Amino acid sequence: MAALDGLPPLRDVIQRHGLDARKALGQNFLLDLNLTQKIARTAGPLEGVTVFEVGPGPGGLTRAILALGAKKVIAVERDARCLPALAEVADHYPGRLEVIEGDALKTDFEALAPEGPVRIIANLPYNVGTQLLVNWLLPKEWPPFWQSLTLMFQKEVGQRIVAREDDDHYGRLGVLCGWRTRAHMAFDVPPQAFTPPPKVTSSVVHLTPNPEPLHCDVAKLERVTQAAFGQRRKMLRQSVKSLGGEALLTKAGIDPQRRAETLSVEEFVTLANCL
Ligand code: SAM
Repeated sequence: MAALDGLPPLRDVIQRHGLDARKALGQNFLLDLNLTQKIARTAGPLEGVTVFEVGPGPGGLTRAILALGAKKVIAVERDARCLPALAEVADHYPGRLEVIEGDALKTDFEALAPEGPVRIIANLPYNVGTQLLVNWLLPKEWPPFWQSLTLMFQKEVGQRIVAREDDDHYGRLGVLCGWRTRAHMAFDVPPQAFTPPPKVTSSVVHLTPNPEPLHCDVAKLERVTQAAFGQRRKMLRQSVKSLGGEALLTKAGIDPQRRAETLSVEEFVTLANCL
């Protein structure tokens, strides 16, 4: 398909720059420009917005974000082979694309954030996606430096992000996301939309900061969710025994016979605050 932005089709870009996909880097590329535009649009209007992207690869999603009018894209890519392809995109959009070669897990995004609105949009490498999300949920300041996160994950991870009580996917990630954000599933993407296709369906998840999350020490919240979901089928009096068991639950006003997956995010926060 000819590209609307006048740049060459992504398949040609990949071939010309020898970007054969590497599994170790979680490389499953999106070549369908309608789909990359759909992902970028999920982040809302981009005019005047700086976008952080992780893993631009050959630049399909990057191109969509720029074509939709983002003021600037700052993209962190670990694979140096992608840099010449991204330089062509940067030439096409002068002054609007900055590529940082490096590991996103070691990147201080907060320090990179300019004045003005920032959104994060990425088709994340599966092996580091959850850790990156957790890092973005735990910045020094809250509300955070970003206005929204629009992220592609394996569907199962997306389900864990948006899950709340009484859902089989509810766990530590759901509590953390439910405490600090409003999260929803935007849409699924089938394996065949990627080159090469992964084994599983993916999902785009959109998160916005909860402006005033209940006060809670995140380390304590982690301790209670780790204990409670570590033995999710057991009654809480058993699973949180090492943290105070029945006494702790009674202090928090929670029935010790309940199981972790029945507690709301607010109840987990109360439990953490009683530690
Ligand atoms: N955005 C492109 C797309 O949608 O076609 C590529 C997405 S691909 C799923 C993931 C990208 O992340 C790859 O380009 C890979 O090289 C890059 N990557 C993998 N691990 C990374 C890391 N730790 N830091 C930054 N980029 C990484």
